[in-house]
Amino acid sequence: VLKVAQLQPTQLDDIYISVKTTKNFHQSRLRLIIDTWVTLAREQTYFFTDADDLEIQKLLPSGHLINTNCSSDHSRKALCCKMASEYDCYMASNKRWFCHVDDDTYVNVPQLVALLQKYNHSEDWYLGKPSLRHPLEIIDRNNPVQKLAFWFATGGAGICISKALALKMLPYTGGGKLMTVGEKIRLPDDCTVGYIINYILRKDLTVINEFRSHLEALWQIRVPEIKNQITFSYAKYGEKNNILRLEGFDENKDPTRFWSIHCHLFPYTKQCANMPR
Ligand code: UDP
Ligand code: MN
Repeated sequence: VLKVAQLQPTQLDDIYISVKTTKNFHQSRLRLIIDTWVTLAREQTYFFTDADDLEIQKLLPSGHLINTNCSSDHSRKALCCKMASEYDCYMASNKRWFCHVDDDTYVNVPQLVALLQKYNHSEDWYLGKPSLRHPLEIIDRNNPVQKLAFWFATGGAGICISKALALKMLPYTGGGKLMTVGEKIRLPDDCTVGYIINYILRKDLTVINEFRSHLEALWQIRVPEIKNQITFSYAKYGEKNNILRLEGFDENKDPTRFWSIHCHLFPYTKQCANMPR
């Protein structure tokens, strides 16, 4: 019976999607994703923040807005604190996959499911997209003349970790230990995860090109390719917006393009009835 259950293809409900956020972004960022892609993964998505918010809580299934009590700044400690909490909650969920995204990420939910169906959750998988073309090099604090190098997946592009690998991370990640490791190497949360998986556990990063953070040129993604991508983001760099280029809602109404992406992918949803086409 157990064998049969293991062979079932991965479904949406086998995935734990955690979104890192902070109280300042509840209105500006969370609402947008709750109204768009999260409608397709309502029961599978959990939000990790640093304050209570009854208004947001009302939009979500109960228990899905988690106040980590981590501090609400962009410090290494605060970010690792949230990631540690995401990991602990994932481990308590018994799901096959742990996927982390930032709150400025659009997740193409059916494509994420299709991706994870290609990998066996009972093997070790670290899926993501590096932002550097080379491994990160740091000084080995045990042996300061020695450098050590490892790959890490950028948190802003999305990271998925299989259950088997998540279990192996436990001694370095569980119960807040991620914070201790992050403090030791003095790096942010996504680098710390890479250090644990790629340096300590010696497991490779599998590059998923379809994870698109705002660290890459989003305007270069061509419209016919949009449906094959798994995550998108947006950012403003000075005068220039790094956003997807596609037709849809007016840029004043949809500056992030997330509504236009959502209605491009799912045109027959009720919310998309009044998109100009
Ligand atoms: N974030 C946070 N606390 C902060 C600032 C940001 O938890 O004080 C979260 C934010 O909600 C997002 C992620 O960290 O999920 C990355 O933040 P942002 O997109 O603003 O910066 P980036 O690192 O992408 O430049
Ligand atoms: Mn960002």
